[in-house]
Formats: sequence, C-alpha cells, structure tokens
Amino acid sequence: MEYEAVIGLEVHAQLKTQTKTFCGCATTFAREPNINVCPVCIGMPGVLPVLNRNVVVYACMLAMAVRGEISRRSVFARKNYFYPDLPKGYQISQYELPVNRGGMIHIQLDGADRDIRLNRIHIEEDAGKLMHNQDGTSYVDFNRSGIPLLEIVSEPDLSTPDEAIAYLKKLRTILLYLGVCDGNMEEGSLRCDANVSVRPRGEARLGVKTELKNMNSFRFIHKALDYEIQRQTEVLGRGGTISQETRLWDESSGTTRSMRSKEEAHDYRYFPEPDLLTLEVSDDLLEEARRGVPELPDAKAGRFTAEYGLPAYDAEVLTASRDLAGYFETVVGSFDRPKAVSNWIMSEMLRFIKDIDTEVKDFRVTPDRTAKLLGLIDDGTISGKIAKGVYEQMVSTGKEPDALIKELGLEQISSESSLREVIAPILEQNRKEVGQYKAGKEKLFGFFVGQVMKATAGKANPSVVNDLLKKMLREEKT
Ligand code: ADP
Ligand code: ZN
Ligand code: MG
Repeated sequence: MEYEAVIGLEVHAQLKTQTKTFCGCATTFAREPNINVCPVCIGMPGVLPVLNRNVVVYACMLAMAVRGEISRRSVFARKNYFYPDLPKGYQISQYELPVNRGGMIHIQLDGADRDIRLNRIHIEEDAGKLMHNQDGTSYVDFNRSGIPLLEIVSEPDLSTPDEAIAYLKKLRTILLYLGVCDGNMEEGSLRCDANVSVRPRGEARLGVKTELKNMNSFRFIHKALDYEIQRQTEVLGRGGTISQETRLWDESSGTTRSMRSKEEAHDYRYFPEPDLLTLEVSDDLLEEARRGVPELPDAKAGRFTAEYGLPAYDAEVLTASRDLAGYFETVVGSFDRPKAVSNWIMSEMLRFIKDIDTEVKDFRVTPDRTAKLLGLIDDGTISGKIAKGVYEQMVSTGKEPDALIKELGLEQISSESSLREVIAPILEQNRKEVGQYKAGKEKLFGFFVGQVMKATAGKANPSVVNDLLKKMLREEKT
C-alpha cells in the first residue's frame, strides 16, 4: 500500500518588544543569568500582570500579514503545569479565544502554488531556562521568563518535509519583514514543533499523529520529519499501529525517540486568567498595527516582476529579505538597468555576503557604489570582467570604484589609436597566422583577440578590438 504524510506545525516566535509581556523587564540578551527579572516574571505571590500593548500590536500585524481574522475580544488563560522553569506553576496563554483565527501562508514549491491554512495565532509568555551542570546540579535562569511569544498553529495541510520547510521559511520571512521577531532558530527565538501522521494514499481520515520536538534548525526539522514519516510508514506497513505521543529528535543518532505517551500527556486545566481583563483590540491599536505592516514578500516580488521586468526567480531571490530588496531598489534608483543590477547582486554581491558571512545592512559596498561600478561598465570605462576584480577590491578595501580603477590602472582601452599600437606589432609577430586567416581560416580571429587581451591585461575594449582587428586584418597584405 502507498502511504502519504500529513504535517501540521506549531511555531513559537519570540517577539522583539523592548520589555516582557506582563512586566517592565528588558527582553534584551543578558550576559548573566537572572538579570532581567522582577517579582512579576519570577512569579512572586501577590503580583499582578500588566499587558504590554506592543505585544498585541505585533500579534495584530502578523494576523494582518497572513490575512487572518483578528478577534476584537480575546481572553488570556492559565495553562497549568509544574516545571522548575515556570515559577508561577502556570503559563499565561490564550486558549478558547485566541487573538487571531485563520489566515494563510502562501508557499511555492517546484513551480506549484499552495496556500497553507492557519488554525490560529495566540499570545503567550515564555518560560525560564534550566542550566544543567556536569556535577548533576541544575540552575534556573529567569531572563527568558515572561518574554512574549506568538504561537502560530497551522492546519494539517502540509504533506512533505519540503513543504514544511517552505512554509517555515515563508513564515520566518514574513516575521522578519514585519520586524517583530529576529527569526533565529539556533538561538531559539523561532521554534517549531512538528505534528506528523501518515495514512493510506486517498484515505480521507487523518492518521494518529506524533509530535516532534527538539529541532533547532530547518535541516533538523527536515531530517526529523523524513525519519518519522518513514518510521510510521514501516509500522503501518507491517500491520502495526502508531501510538499518539511526543517524540524527541536526537541529532546524534538521526532518529526520534518517545518522550511521553498520550497517557502521560499533561492535563493543563486551562481556565481564564483571573488577573487580566478580556483583551479588547481597539480601532486605534488596529490602525497602529496596519501602519506597521510593510509591503510583504509576495507583493514585493510581484511588483519587482511587473515594475522592473525581472524574471520570477530574480524577484524571489531579491525579496528574500527586506534589506536586500531595498538595496536592489536603491541601486536601480541611480542605475536604471534592473536586470543588470539583479544579475550583479545575485552573482557577485550575494556570494561575498555569504563568503564573509555578513548582512546586507552591514555590507561595505553601499548601493551608490554598486551603481557607480555598473555605470563604469556601461560607459565602457572598464569591462565586466575587470569590474569583478574591482568589486572584490571594493569589498576588501572599502574604496570607491573610480579611485580603485585609477590606482590600479584598470581603465579600459577604447581609443582606436592606442589599440592600433597594440595590434600592429601582434600582426607583425604572427605573419603565419595572418596569412592563414586571410586564406580563409577565419576561426583564427579569436587567436588575435586573445593576443590583444593578453597584451593589454584584459583592458582592451572587446567591441572596439573586434572592429579594429577586422579592419586591420583586411588592410594586411599577404
Ligand atoms: P493537540 O490537541 O494534540 O494539540 P491539535 O488539534 O491542537 O492537536 O493540533 C496541533 C497541531 O497538529 C496542528 O498544527 C494540527 O494541524 C496538527 N495536527 C492535528 N492532527 C494531525 C494529524 N492527524 N496529523 C498531522 N498533524 C496533525
Ligand atoms: Zn519582570
Ligand atoms: Mg492543541
């Protein structure tokens, strides 16, 4: 029998607010444990939570970006469980009435378009972090306790690990465009639990799912899903049954292993948080959120193809981040040949960004310098090939392109009289080839071009060389 997989993802995105969800503590990275803490976020008795308005603004921005349905009234709930990183004994979350229902994330894979439906987005607070020592003792760091999270729950609409990754990448890009989350999976500011089941192909009912945890990169999520789909398929294939459970990805063995079964699942005993009022989203707040939503990746990519005539592939690469898209548009603003700019960014700039492991916003070569360099190719000052070398120098030295070209004597030689002086001795020294060429061996033309390029260290203007060589060869006597 043939089986197909069904995947639904639960993503936690840490919000980049300045302060925590329910107190005034900073959310910034702290070098020492328990620096960013107060009685509220370490759960002292008698304290009261006060909701950070920006958390709601950010939640609404994401809801708008995915075209979800914002609940004008939603309710905070206590999710009760005991764990040392949770001093209150409960996490403030949302349960029956989340801040957003529905919405879509559009993905593209192998040329096919799909809209992945969202079930909900809700607000919750993060827990602290346990630090386990070699000697068996454990400590608790509450710096993270109370940092705001959005939980984004998809419908079980994904059917392959590749689709799951495309969905996650798109969601991450949207969060980065909105500027509400830094999207760092290794550091845990974007975390994903993956629910997966398999069923006979064509079967309408969903199979029993397992929930996978402990994957902190796209690569691990992909590997864990691959492994788990294969495991479940094998179990069902030999007539076994899948038990509903939570499984942990173990990178060292490349497998998932059972962490807790359904019987051991927590009963969170959710109930409405009595210390917080119903969350009412005002018109003002909605307006503020709307103003915070920029042009999003899909819309931007669509505009790049329409407005600049770029291929869809270029548009997608260039809109992968807001900074890169902005960089492209700034260059085009002063050098109006979009496809040439796109080619340069994709083949040269991105390679350097990757090699020196930097970010677009920190990249040394500013958009106006890139525009200048492209202009110098365009007006024939340097060839495209020489430009690549100049660009490399621009990256390493931070100098202006024209200054570098002067300094290194790289101006393209376009003047006919100068090139005549180069070509004449070449023809003189290669009488035999000149004779053969004139006798009809036309492919020798490339040989002469090569000689001229060699003699000028690549600086001769190719099109001038072409015309001039033809003319001078015609004038040669045999
Ligand atoms: P739970 O009650 O275990 O939390 P939910 O119904 O709330 O389950 O769904 C949690 C996540 O699991 C959602 O992303 C959902 O799309 C996904 N999911 C639910 N059922 C399945 C299934 N049978 N196979 C794969 N994913 C599923
Ligand atoms: Zn605090
Ligand atoms: Mg659930």
